[in-house]
Amino acid sequence: MNRKWHQLILSLGCLLLIIICNSCQSTITTSPNTGTKPFKVATDPTFIPFESQNASGQLEGFDIDLMNAIAKISGLPIQFQNLPFDGMISTLQAKRVDAAISGITITPERLKTIAFSRPYFKAGLAITVRANNQNIQDFNSLKGKKIGVQIGSTGATFAKTIPNAKISTFNSGPEFFQDLINGNVDAVISDAFATLYAIKNGNLKGIKVVANLLTEEYYGIATPKDSPYLEVINKAITNLLSNGTYQQIYQKWFNTTPPKLPESSI
Ligand code: GLN
Repeated sequence: MNRKWHQLILSLGCLLLIIICNSCQSTITTSPNTGTKPFKVATDPTFIPFESQNASGQLEGFDIDLMNAIAKISGLPIQFQNLPFDGMISTLQAKRVDAAISGITITPERLKTIAFSRPYFKAGLAITVRANNQNIQDFNSLKGKKIGVQIGSTGATFAKTIPNAKISTFNSGPEFFQDLINGNVDAVISDAFATLYAIKNGNLKGIKVVANLLTEEYYGIATPKDSPYLEVINKAITNLLSNGTYQQIYQKWFNTTPPKLPESSI
């Protein structure tokens, strides 16, 4: 009799332990990152003034300041990781990073495989030509021309719609601008803000941006499709927009007040 009671108590104890362990495990696997595991954020630091590396190798730029502000307000323990722009979407799909910030335009095509935060920057594509070029003014004048674009960018997708254009693809912005200056391509199609910034700050000489933008685009922070952090990031952006931090960062890099951002761009 005594032994039976012992056995019963022992098995009840075991059952209780199993229940406790199970509930522990499920809270561990479903709870969001609480600060121990780094939250990996990919960026390609060749896109001035959004992300670049200074002389001592430190990341800087509008996106870097914004992501750091998001980390501060949300408590996400971010860790930047450099990655070529062209590989960013597949790396997110494979969940090898938690997010990416790199002037990435929110497009319907990209939304098929990854997710985006609410828009954080209003941007657009522009045509850049050599300063003495008078005949390339708009989309129609690009027909049959030699065009430089960055691999995997919205500029590259856009260039495919130009009839008879001869497209050269480059790994990063600085390379195609060199080819434009050298005369190897007639025009470059790329993000207007980055180009205008480089020209204004004297990093690029002998080229000009054609006044009219080709597209209106919005940048978003990209995450894997079912990321549990998207909500946290969106809340942080909304807070930074309303508490003046976003405006401060915008002012610091672009010397002007930001335009109003929609809650969704697509
Ligand atoms: N905004 C462009 C895109 O998303 C280019 C971004 C970049 O070169 N970093 O394709």
